[in-house]
Amino acid sequence: MVKEILIYAEVTRDNYIHTVFFELANKAQELAEKLGDAEVNALLISKPGLADEYREAFINSGISKIYALEDERFDTYYTEYFAKAAVDAINEIKPEIMLIGATNQGRDIAPRISTALHTGLTADCTGLDINEKGQLAATRPTFGGQLMATILCKNMPQMATVRPKVFKPAEKDNIKPAEIIYKMVNLNDIEKKVELLEFHKKLTTEINELDSAEIIVAGGRGMKNDEGFKLLKEFADKIGAAVGASRVAVEMGLASHDMQIGQTGKTVTPKLYIACGISGAIQHTIGMDKSEKIIAINKDEKAPIFEISDYGMVGDVFEILPQLIKQF
Ligand SMILES: Cc1cc2nc3c(=O)[nH]c(=O)nc-3n(C[C@H](O)[C@H](O)[C@H](O)COP(=O)(O)OP(=O)(O)OC[C@H]3O[C@@H](n4cnc5c(N)ncnc54)[C@H](O)[C@@H]3O)c2cc1C
Repeated sequence: MVKEILIYAEVTRDNYIHTVFFELANKAQELAEKLGDAEVNALLISKPGLADEYREAFINSGISKIYALEDERFDTYYTEYFAKAAVDAINEIKPEIMLIGATNQGRDIAPRISTALHTGLTADCTGLDINEKGQLAATRPTFGGQLMATILCKNMPQMATVRPKVFKPAEKDNIKPAEIIYKMVNLNDIEKKVELLEFHKKLTTEINELDSAEIIVAGGRGMKNDEGFKLLKEFADKIGAAVGASRVAVEMGLASHDMQIGQTGKTVTPKLYIACGISGAIQHTIGMDKSEKIIAINKDEKAPIFEISDYGMVGDVFEILPQLIKQF
């Protein structure tokens, strides 16, 4: 029997397939090859018509089948409806592995699915592999990021969530039309416990800026105060960069939590990451070490951030940044 890796294709509020789906689909191709006779398929829960409309969007993801669960009631994400539909479908499909993006929606639905299916879920993985026994080996930081643990799941499906930007989507050479398989949806007896009355979009732009930024300038404790972050922002504006922060900078009130990069913040992969006054603790670097080029500015030449940097400037950020602003 063909083994299946099923990926949750999250539909965003703006009616797009969340980019994390394409990242997981690409990684899953590698896992499928290691599993041997395996298929990578998508689980799409949406209002009627979306599976057909999105057929094109899936074409480059390398998936073989789209299991479409369509119903008017899936117009907006509701935990109870989505979880019930997903669990029913997974019980039928019986995938070997189920991967879900660690987005707000993914973090909500994944534990509900795993609990209902009596299986394990490894959350916020930073690495996925297939071990010599053909099991999913899901790696994630543990003990406050001091250790990386590889976790195996005894039951099926073996479930994992992965944050956006941890893996890369496929290059444009995997054209493969996917077959759409419509599944019955039964939402009888499901009590909707929460009603969405209104939706207010968050006004800060940092989240999206960081997600799509090609250049990120991030500040840590070394930026010291609001004046320091103003300087950082001035530099970022000069070079067209988004501003990020270490957790300490967030805790000091210099930046909002949306701007935090690292284990308990965001994972980013810009073309250029400039770390200013950041020591390079593992909990921070885990969220940015896949950036294409890293430049660190730190007055301590032994700061660990230099170990993962392509270029380093040893010196005081309050002297270096004004010089850079002037140069640019
Ligand atoms: C469970 C857990 C989760 C965590 N999650 C995250 C996370 O998501 N993101 C995160 O960032 N951290 C996280 N942390 C915290 C992390 O361990 C570090 O404490 C934090 O990253 C350190 O922030 P920092 O580099 O800004 O500060 P510090 O480690 O204090 O480093 C400040 C650096 O600035 C340099 N400096 C000071 N003054 C100047 C100057 N004038 N010019 C140049 N350089 C200067 C210093 O030499 C030093 O290297 C987490 C910790 C735990 C336990």
